[in-house]
Parts: sequence; structure tokens; C-alpha cells
Amino acid sequence: MLRTTRCGKCRTVWEYMNPDRGSIVGAPFIKCRNCLTMHKTTMNTYKNLNLFGKIWFWFGTILQDGLYFFGGLFIIVGVLFYNAPIGILIFAPIMYFPIKNIITLNQQIEALQDLVDKNGGFLWSDEQY
Ligand SMILES: [Zn+2]
Repeated sequence: MLRTTRCGKCRTVWEYMNPDRGSIVGAPFIKCRNCLTMHKTTMNTYKNLNLFGKIWFWFGTILQDGLYFFGGLFIIVGVLFYNAPIGILIFAPIMYFPIKNIITLNQQIEALQDLVDKNGGFLWSDEQY
């Protein structure tokens, strides 16, 4: 998910990619590329979450993706009774994203961790992962 926000200090617009996994996994700090101000976020990298945070993260992710998946499935089955090709064409992509998210979740977590480690604990405001 592409997120747009503004620096709290210099009002520069930031655009960065955010997997938006329940929003608790992310860069703990974002540093503005323009004015170099460090901003604390409400997120943390997966490695630094406590056990409760990790459980909550997986629970939220599976619940969210499960809802999309079964929602898509439910609609496909419904449409199948009327027009199968249209149902599959329209709703199969909806089911594809939650599956892809779950499969690539570890890669997303590691990519974020690598980038945060490389910078020394933060992400630049224009970095994407
Ligand atoms: Zn700034």
C-alpha cells in the first residue's frame, strides 16, 4: 500500500510503501530526507516485537487475509451459479492478493529488517520496502 504523509517539521510530502500488516510491523523511526528530523512511529520491526506483539501480528494478518480470501471465494461461488467466467475473472484476483501476502510475508519482514539495520535503526522518508 502506498502511503503518503507529511513531515511534522518541514511539511515535505513523504511517499513510501507500507505493507500495512495490521500496522504494528514497520520502521520504528522514519528520518526525513529533507530536514533530517527523526520521527518515531507506533511500529516496530518484527524482530523487536514481544511475544504478544508477534502473536497479535500473525492473528491480525491471518484474519485480514482470510476475510479477503473467503470473501472472494464466497462471491465466486455465488456468481458461478449465474456466469462462471465473469465470476472467476473478476474475483480470482481478489483472492490472489491475500495468498501472495501470506507467502511473501517473511520476505517483507526481512526486507524491512535489512533496510532498518543498514541505516542504523530507521528508514529514510523516501525508502520503500
Ligand atoms: Zn522534514
